[in-house]
Amino acid sequence: MIPREEAEQILKDIPVKPTPEEVSLEECRGRVLAEDIISPLDLPPFDKAAMDGYALRSSDQAEKYRIVEVIAAGSHPQRPLQPGECAKIMTGGKLPPGADRVVRREVTQEEDGWLVIVGEDKESNVCYQGEDIRRGEVVLEKGTFLRPQEVAVLASVGVTRVKVYCQPTVGLLATGSEIVSPGEPLREGQIYDSNTYSLAAQVAATGARLKKVGRGRDEPALLRRELEELLDECDLVLVSGGVSVGDYDYVPTILQELGVQIHFHKLAIKPGKPTIFGTRGETAVFGVPGNPVSTFVIFELLIKPFIFRLMGHSYQPLLLKGELAEELKRKKSRREAWLPVEYRQGQVRSLPYHGSAHIHALTRANGLIAFPRGVKILPKGSQIVVRPI
Ligand code: AMP
Ligand code: MG
Repeated sequence: MIPREEAEQILKDIPVKPTPEEVSLEECRGRVLAEDIISPLDLPPFDKAAMDGYALRSSDQAEKYRIVEVIAAGSHPQRPLQPGECAKIMTGGKLPPGADRVVRREVTQEEDGWLVIVGEDKESNVCYQGEDIRRGEVVLEKGTFLRPQEVAVLASVGVTRVKVYCQPTVGLLATGSEIVSPGEPLREGQIYDSNTYSLAAQVAATGARLKKVGRGRDEPALLRRELEELLDECDLVLVSGGVSVGDYDYVPTILQELGVQIHFHKLAIKPGKPTIFGTRGETAVFGVPGNPVSTFVIFELLIKPFIFRLMGHSYQPLLLKGELAEELKRKKSRREAWLPVEYRQGQVRSLPYHGSAHIHALTRANGLIAFPRGVKILPKGSQIVVRPI
């Protein structure tokens, strides 16, 4: 049984070779940059009005200004401003040469082609050329996960094709003679398979590509066939169930028979103790215990960062600090125990939770907290780290 930190280190030491490909700007969301993006231009590319108003020379200090032109966003100023002159300008319009501030329309009046300032405006109301991004600047670094805001930056510096890393292909296998597909009738002793769907959703959220999904009864020959296919065809295989010490937990043996080198089996984490991880060539495989919370938590803690590594991104979970609203106790402390919590305005509340089968508890949770190994009491009011889910 190894602690989480050791498992994380083992996973970080597995060599990965993300391969780049080129995609269009429209397709790049959720992908990871395989190149630095250097801006070919200043942003804004020119001094730009931040408000509707009148562009003028701040050195003038006049009471009235002659309006010499109207500048719309996208149009080109016709002439430089002379002393005592101003240009009516719309938000986004390019300042005429000589102008260095915009007086917003709300504090002005127009009288026969003259501007009169009737109120106070202390702001310059100008977005200056290059104040957001400088030409030649690295605006996004290789390894960046592209969210909508990064897509906006790519577009705003004029990029149309982006080098990103290929998405790893993932195969899922839910094992268990008791599990059946939602939609089928449930017979005595059977339950619906939820792990296939939770894992598929978690995989999709990382941007990896789900290639193949299987479900297998606890029969060695069948599981072996399914696993062999997935190992042959996918970059990453996720198996749920059948990894523990039960009579019908065949997965660890089969993985070894199929030539998988086991890097760890059994973690000092609750839930998720029987988790197994191995590699065969460039394919990696995780086996997680079948209880739905175990599957979910181990994905969050270990599988998700690993998938991001396969995509060339170093995933750092957001860790929030909160204050524990009530004391939490436990009897055994050999493992690091993860619990679902509700995090609101810095307060951390535990939720009714019956253990690793109780997936419904996670629907009210927006975070996970951990009892560190060796700790049996988390006092009320103590500072605690929350991992958002
Ligand atoms: P196992 O890891 O195979 O020992 O399974 C542990 C528990 O998780 C058992 O109660 C299983 O019935 C349950 N379980 C296994 N696979 C699934 C699944 N795909 N969906 C929901 N529950 C499961
Ligand atoms: Mg099982």
